[in-house]
Amino acid sequence: MATAENYCEPEGPIIELLKTLASRDLKEMAIISDSKLIEILKKDFYMDTTVLHKFEMDVYVNVLKEHIKKWPGWDNCDRNINRIKTIKDKAAVAMILKKEYVKLKEYLQHLLNVTQELAADKVSELKEKENLKKEQIVMEVFASRQQMNNLFYRYPVRNNIFNINVKRRKLNMQNTTLKSILNWYGVEITIKVPMNDKWLVFERRNSHKLRHALMNKKLSFNMHKNIKLDQNALVKLPEHSIKILKSQMLKIFDKAIYENPDYKYILPIIEYDLVKLPKTLNIPFSLRRYTSKYSFIRYLYSDVPLEDNLMKYDIQLEEIISPMCEFNIDFSDLNDSFTLDNPIKVICTECDVTFTNDFMSELLNHFKNKHYEDPDWICMNCKKVCPVKSLTNSGWNHACELV
Ligand SMILES: [Zn+2]
Ligand SMILES: [Zn+2]
Repeated sequence: MATAENYCEPEGPIIELLKTLASRDLKEMAIISDSKLIEILKKDFYMDTTVLHKFEMDVYVNVLKEHIKKWPGWDNCDRNINRIKTIKDKAAVAMILKKEYVKLKEYLQHLLNVTQELAADKVSELKEKENLKKEQIVMEVFASRQQMNNLFYRYPVRNNIFNINVKRRKLNMQNTTLKSILNWYGVEITIKVPMNDKWLVFERRNSHKLRHALMNKKLSFNMHKNIKLDQNALVKLPEHSIKILKSQMLKIFDKAIYENPDYKYILPIIEYDLVKLPKTLNIPFSLRRYTSKYSFIRYLYSDVPLEDNLMKYDIQLEEIISPMCEFNIDFSDLNDSFTLDNPIKVICTECDVTFTNDFMSELLNHFKNKHYEDPDWICMNCKKVCPVKSLTNSGWNHACELV
């Protein structure tokens, strides 16, 4: 941990702010202007604000604006600064301010680090979109993820590349486990149980990152760099948190919903999830993590008979998935639609259907009737073919043979 001694005599807007506060009543902290906050980013955190994306910059400024006043050390700082007013010794004053500076800067640095990690995906998504705009989009296609599996003809048929008469195979439920379904694209689980005078809310969603590129494989073949996914959790820093042990949380679930007929199906999934979470959780708790070491790739198309004159085409939709799971644990007020009779909700977000109490047979029927067989994925690292059902059944945790 950094100490005051690690720093030279501090300079920059943060120490200036503390000095100003030391000469005034701390409780009258003035509103810090955006330009001052940008100066803090530049001078105290050495950020090159000229190259930051506008979105990233706005996020950092808002985080500083929001959190600088909420620094848990202000009370202590207030006491120390009040002490300064009685000290005439300049060196002692500088030392006290320096110590407060180090603590405040560490707090803000931690916030900025977490923000940077959380904003990274959004920033690259925005940059990608802006680059696409520069490359002049010819046409935008809106399709559900399921529709994309067969949306494009491999070769144009009467000058058309869209397959609108898709013949798809219904999902074969014989070899589809419940665990697979709960790990399927877009499936969310919400559990609400009473705790004191609130609901304790547990949310879990499969928020996989997907990337698509339509290509003519006769012209180009994308060589992808295989980037290792960071499986460490990205945890949001809660402002006012209540500590709870995972084991205690499981006990609360157990007590409230063990009689629920579908609890026994959900419990193993939650237990598995909780093993991966820290031992003690701070509520509100928010975490997302990649569930696999590497991304998976596949090429989607509808096969049609090849005519000789169309040898120049091989149209395929490249799809890359980086499997991710997201957890939120929070409290909510008792006056919402949940009751003790329906503490568990499973939502298929792709079809916008919610299943509540006694949902297991309905959920299985829904997948049987509304979902289709899904093409295999290929691990981008070991190139092994991974059927979607085995990936979902393992919680997208493919045991890669190549390290
Ligand atoms: Zn569905
Ligand atoms: Zn692999």
